[in-house]
Amino acid sequence: MRAVTVTPGVPDSLRLVNDWPEPPSEEGAILVETLAVGICGTDHEIIAGDYGKAPPGATELVIGHESLGRVLEDPTGTLHPGDLVAGIVRHPDPVPCTNCAADEWDMCRNGQYTEHGIKALQGFARERWRIPPRFAVGLAPDLAEVGVLLEPTSVVAKAWDHIDRIAHRTEWQPQSVLVTGAGPIGLLAALLATQRGLTVHVLDRNTTGPKPGLVGALGASYHTSTVDELGFEPDVVVECTGAPAVVLEAMCKAAPIGIVCLAGMSSGGRTIDFDAGALNRTLVLENNVVFGSVNANRRHWDLAAEALTRADPSWLESLITRRVPVGAYAEAYTPTGNDIKVALEFAA
Ligand code: BGC
Repeated sequence: MRAVTVTPGVPDSLRLVNDWPEPPSEEGAILVETLAVGICGTDHEIIAGDYGKAPPGATELVIGHESLGRVLEDPTGTLHPGDLVAGIVRHPDPVPCTNCAADEWDMCRNGQYTEHGIKALQGFARERWRIPPRFAVGLAPDLAEVGVLLEPTSVVAKAWDHIDRIAHRTEWQPQSVLVTGAGPIGLLAALLATQRGLTVHVLDRNTTGPKPGLVGALGASYHTSTVDELGFEPDVVVECTGAPAVVLEAMCKAAPIGIVCLAGMSSGGRTIDFDAGALNRTLVLENNVVFGSVNANRRHWDLAAEALTRADPSWLESLITRRVPVGAYAEAYTPTGNDIKVALEFAA
């Protein structure tokens, strides 16, 4: 069968293999036929040779961690042939650490977790894959066109879950939120914020293209200034750019007792002149919290599936700005500069 693979650590080794083996039964009881995989910044880092690890004993890694497929067979009866399904990216470490033992693999403490299409588990950019029932998330049939957004939605569902938990440290509920970055993660973070009834602001550097309209359609405000120039202090910031200057401004901008969730990832390697003492002073004097958030556990995937079901389907469809058939895989992985989410499609 066809699979899109890389040799981790080797830049630009992305290729389409036509005779990739069928998924072995040890991979899980549920057999899935791939409809599509979504592409994100992590895939580009893996293709550049900067990230990613093949499974033990293998040199090639099937890429793809944002999955959507149809169940072909499930002898366990958890799902049924024809059901839409996505595979959970991360699996717990084998020790397991305290958190993995409690099915909180997103909070793994020893780094020995594995991730489909990223770290030591084959990914979903192949025609068929298998998954154990506890890592298979069923989707409502009407999400067939947009179900590939479930994985990034799970990431923001986790971010919001942790924001909620932190907010509960005191008698206060956030009212306003600033999302920095209107890529897929930022837009989905804004979607979940509007579903919570918050006043939502999204900041991005793009003045044209679909982003301002997508933010407006959520009933949120779109800003293209710097964070510093904004005329208000948000209760919550969800930082989705990973751009060092934006990250620092976001940490300084939150309102007293505010919460800053860092969900974007910097590539590192660049230094910036910054008054760390002033930041320290603000965080302490204002009881602010800055925290990082990555990945998602089963509970977050289920919350994400609910959030997608509640969202406007046409708004979700507009996030997928390109759909590329697997035969033209190289195009899918070549950024155009105008993409929000690119889906690589496998469906016959
Ligand atoms: C994925 C996460 C993963 C992280 C680090 C992200 O792109 O969405 O599931 O944990 O990369 O590998």
